[in-house]
Amino acid sequence: MNSYKLLLLPGDGIGPEVMAEVEKMLARLTEMGVARFETERGLVGGAAYDAHGQAISESDMALAMAADAVLFGAVGGPKWDGVPYEVRPEAGLLRLRKDLALFANLRPAICYPALAEASSLKREIVEGLDIMIVRELTGGVYFGEPKQIIDLGNGQKRGIDTQVYDTYEIERIGRVAFELARKRRNKVTSSEKRNVMKSGVLWHETIVALHRRDYADVTLEHQLADSLAMQLVRWPKQFDVIVTDNLFGDMLSDIAAMLTGSLGMLPSASLGEVDKATDKRRALYEPVHGSAPDIAGKGMANPIAMIGSLAMCLRYSFGLGDAADAVDAAISATLAAGLRTADIKSDAREAISTSAMGDAIIARLKA
Ligand code: NAD
Repeated sequence: MNSYKLLLLPGDGIGPEVMAEVEKMLARLTEMGVARFETERGLVGGAAYDAHGQAISESDMALAMAADAVLFGAVGGPKWDGVPYEVRPEAGLLRLRKDLALFANLRPAICYPALAEASSLKREIVEGLDIMIVRELTGGVYFGEPKQIIDLGNGQKRGIDTQVYDTYEIERIGRVAFELARKRRNKVTSSEKRNVMKSGVLWHETIVALHRRDYADVTLEHQLADSLAMQLVRWPKQFDVIVTDNLFGDMLSDIAAMLTGSLGMLPSASLGEVDKATDKRRALYEPVHGSAPDIAGKGMANPIAMIGSLAMCLRYSFGLGDAADAVDAAISATLAAGLRTADIKSDAREAISTSAMGDAIIARLKA
């Protein structure tokens, strides 16, 4: 039986509650003989700040570097609103993304038929939706220098962020998108704003050249990011894989999130480069949602985004596609049976708790 080392970073708020369901699922998968999962736990975000004044400690960073994959819950909450900027909870996640060089963020948006009524859009627009947003995660305006606020000395200040992309960054994220599309419906939509941004012109040129050179068998389309936002709400099923930069990806993936009904449903994967020596990729898997302080500690959180993140880990880090399919099918069957946490409940049925949802999914796991 293959053995995999996982670092669990539950974080804050509902993070530990949804991570507990993943631990149960890992135990069940081990019992079923899928693989052996060795887990270690670390602290991140506010929990890490409370313990040692940092958003993640050096020793937990070392564990993350050594793990086959990291499973991350969520960070943040009002308790840490006043902490210094450098050690705010989100800094832990940014550090992980940076040091593990996680440049590709994969966010599937899937609308389970049983949940079509939970979306704010009409059933026919979202039912059966299955798209994948590939967001560049380590470049662009969130990291570009200069990044500062300068005092202009006349009672005015100037805030500066820099949008910057090099060819290699666009190429490697483009490759991830094209490779994924080949395993799906073979279509990539690349998005930028080349009408007003130089980085967008380079993005477009680079994707076009990469496509011509290595991926001519994949259908490639281009959409300006604002127009793509509109199309995502108008007719999302026209898309298969969408590839875009850090800033636009942040926004477009949140729009896609709402198509599926609830933030509590959305998993994500962040992948680094394949290490040529070990043939492994650094990777971190996390739900899209935050720490949900409004419901933390109440047993109300939907664990599906976290469990779905584990399924992505099985698929993309461990090559356990069958096990990932089984987890996804168990989620689907649980929803089809009418079981709902409060966030996805739309009728008079009673909502079930986080742990009851986890148990129901595990009970539907088929060998
Ligand atoms: P949020 O995602 O935590 O919550 C938004 C809304 O969705 C809330 O009403 C919440 O109850 C609900 N929700 C979220 N996840 C849910 C789940 N699994 N089940 C049921 N309902 C769920 O976003 P927010 O309220 O804007 O932010 C709260 C805190 O989380 C902030 O400190 C923010 O900085 C942080 N945050 C962290 C991450 C992360 O760790 N990656 C991401 C986003 C926000």
